[in-house]
Amino acid sequence: MILKILFKIIKEKAYLISFLIFSGVVGYLNDILFEILVFSQTVILLTYIYTEYKLKDWIRNYKRGEKTYAYGFIYDEFCSLIEQLDEDKKSSSSKFELLNKRFKELSAAMPDSTVILDKNKKIEWFNSEAQKLFKFNKVYDEGTPITHIIRNPIFVEYINLAEISKEPVYFKHDKKDEVISIQVFEVPFGKDMSLLTFRDISAFEKLDSVRSDFIANVSHELKTPLTVISGYLEMLKSDSVGKEESQKFYNEMLDQSLRMNRIIGDLILITNLQTTKPIESKKEKINLNKITSEIIYDLKPILTKRKQSINIISKADIFVYGLYKEIYSAFMNLITNAVHYSAPNLNVEIDFGYTNSGSIYYSVKDYGFGIEDKEIERLTERFYRVDKGRSRNQGGTGLGLSIVKQVLNRHDAELNIESKLDEGSNFTILFNNQANYKNSPKSASNI
Ligand code: ADP
Repeated sequence: MILKILFKIIKEKAYLISFLIFSGVVGYLNDILFEILVFSQTVILLTYIYTEYKLKDWIRNYKRGEKTYAYGFIYDEFCSLIEQLDEDKKSSSSKFELLNKRFKELSAAMPDSTVILDKNKKIEWFNSEAQKLFKFNKVYDEGTPITHIIRNPIFVEYINLAEISKEPVYFKHDKKDEVISIQVFEVPFGKDMSLLTFRDISAFEKLDSVRSDFIANVSHELKTPLTVISGYLEMLKSDSVGKEESQKFYNEMLDQSLRMNRIIGDLILITNLQTTKPIESKKEKINLNKITSEIIYDLKPILTKRKQSINIISKADIFVYGLYKEIYSAFMNLITNAVHYSAPNLNVEIDFGYTNSGSIYYSVKDYGFGIEDKEIERLTERFYRVDKGRSRNQGGTGLGLSIVKQVLNRHDAELNIESKLDEGSNFTILFNNQANYKNSPKSASNI
């Protein structure tokens, strides 16, 4: 091992050792060994100092491919290492350039408009679709804050959010002679940058409105014949008094036609909620205590039948601002669900008040069947039922929570659902931005 190392040193520093041996021999032969050794050491030292100076200069002003005086002398390994590092850097930066080029080619080929923003939300790059959509100019617009070009308030607010939102936003944009609907989505990209994708969703919106129109038309068309059928069934039923078998059939037919009537009514209501704007002048201050008492009064027959009662926990007079009929319908749906999806005798609790953040909450709590976690997020979909049989037996249409969702959308409110299987559920509505309509002290109740 030692011999191996010795051999390596001799091999690498052969010229140095030869120089020393040569000076030693010359000095010995001429009887000036000491002088010649001092001289040769001085030469070696000076060479080292000069080489070090050249090496520092070479590193400071490094140019790829340029050799130094130091190279090939005592610092040769050191120099090769620097060159190797530089080569690695060169190949990784060319890999990055290639990736960057590929990304831009990919984005350019994408049908969506794509824009890259720097950390100050200035345009760094855009693809040709974005150029067409927003008439970006390659020369002037790169480096311009995007909000100087796209000034829609919804977009400006979205872009200026402190944190990049996980949800897209939608806004209208004037494109030539038409107004189109755009969905925009921002995702973090690279270091402090972000990537925006804009999608023209006008065609989807049109399709959606055709679908809504279709449902509304079908529902209206079905309503009249169904009313006629129900009328004749009532007549036939009263004619068949005394005939037990026939009465049973007529009752069943009437039940089913009433159910169909309810489904059609709910479908018409949902389409109306979806396709019309709430009329601001019709909004009013709604006393939560009063509206809840009215609902409980209307539910009296069913509550008596099921031996259930509804307790209002809050005693405060709290008001929300909205459309009475719609709020009534949303509350009614939550309360009837709480009653229907609990075993008889189990009571329901209603509470309302202010949350710590100043919103108004309205909660309907039951101790009934409860819902599994995985079902909760689908509950507000049309016709989604956890247990179809149970829903039908209760006379459900599968549209109640969709109506609640639509009503809340029109009232800047949201629905929170907490539930545990076999323990019960708590459906809470949060009314935001009610500060202007507040009529009772904030301290009334806190969540
Ligand atoms: P439905 O007319 O079937 O009640 P909804 O849209 O009102 O339709 O509710 C959808 C489904 O959500 C119901 O079928 C039921 O399975 C479930 N659900 C709603 N409210 C409750 C509740 N309080 N407890 C348990 N399940 C509920």
